Amino acid sequence: MRLGKTDLEVNKNGFGALPIQRRNEKDSIEILKKAYDNGINFYDTARFYTDSEEKLGKAFEDVRENIYIATKTGMETAEEFWSDLETSLKNLRTDYVDLYQFHNISFVPKAEDDLYKAMLEAKQEGLIKHIGITTHKITHAHEALDSGLYETLQYPFSYLSGDEELKLIEKCKSLDIGFIAMKAMGGGLIKNSKASFAYINQFSNVLPIWGIQKLEELDEFLSYDSNTLLNDELKSAIEQDKKELGDNFCRGCGYCMPCPEEINISLCARMSLWIRRFPTEPNLDERTQEIMNHTLDCVECYECVDRCPYELDIPELLKENYEDYQNVLSGKTKV
Ligand code: SF4
Ligand code: SF4
Repeated sequence: MRLGKTDLEVNKNGFGALPIQRRNEKDSIEILKKAYDNGINFYDTARFYTDSEEKLGKAFEDVRENIYIATKTGMETAEEFWSDLETSLKNLRTDYVDLYQFHNISFVPKAEDDLYKAMLEAKQEGLIKHIGITTHKITHAHEALDSGLYETLQYPFSYLSGDEELKLIEKCKSLDIGFIAMKAMGGGLIKNSKASFAYINQFSNVLPIWGIQKLEELDEFLSYDSNTLLNDELKSAIEQDKKELGDNFCRGCGYCMPCPEEINISLCARMSLWIRRFPTEPNLDERTQEIMNHTLDCVECYECVDRCPYELDIPELLKENYEDYQNVLSGKTKV
């Protein structure tokens, strides 16, 4: 597929390189090389993902020109921007980045801002080929699209997303801006990779970047291609998933944070789902119990509710999840 006005021709499976920071170097390089050997040519990483850039650099130094590398900076001053870019180029063992993105920063840089000027200068110098932005905020997403300054938008999108995201995709299409879908597996809540792929495959301008950390996960995505379409079976799996999750569930997008009481809302407000959809044990460890206990400090200020695009009653959701969690811990509720 063509990634909007960047004109990058990318494989419909993009590689999200956040999770490989959890694997050792040897295993990570094995996964990356296998992805490359099987046609994946778009790799998304970030300065924030610890050693992910270095692993990409080591895996792809000798085939650099055959792939596209996207990375990101979360820095908000021009000086820090240049320092980040220099580090990324060094880590990635290259002299250019195909797509450089502002990483979920607190504002949308405009043409008159020194930060954007630095981005533009880097492009003029050939250090970066294209300019993009990533955000979790719908208002920032629209602001970036309306500015006309960005060639790609990276935003959370999966089959659990709603109308707002669909409108955003349409808008990107009409503006010829590439849409990169992060959290395409619903931030971990979706287990059906085939349904995810087929759903996103319907959108010609959307590139999912699957967060891959195991060879088996890679193999799953490699087994899908443009002929993997949404059939009745997959549609009903999606419907079933949506029904199970209902409307009133936390998508883990994090728009509502930070909480002044430092409650980990995006984890705690969906704990009941986690412990039912994934192995329960790790979610019952001491550290997670502490995080859940911290929800009792909610002062019901409702700051988070104002920021939640799904209009969830977060304090209530936290209470429900806490109670359910305690019942699971004590054995009163079986999962
Ligand atoms: S309502 Fe509770 S969870 Fe939400 S921001 Fe306030 S203290 Fe944090
Ligand atoms: S409560 Fe709302 S804003 Fe916060 S993580 Fe969940 S869905 Fe996102």
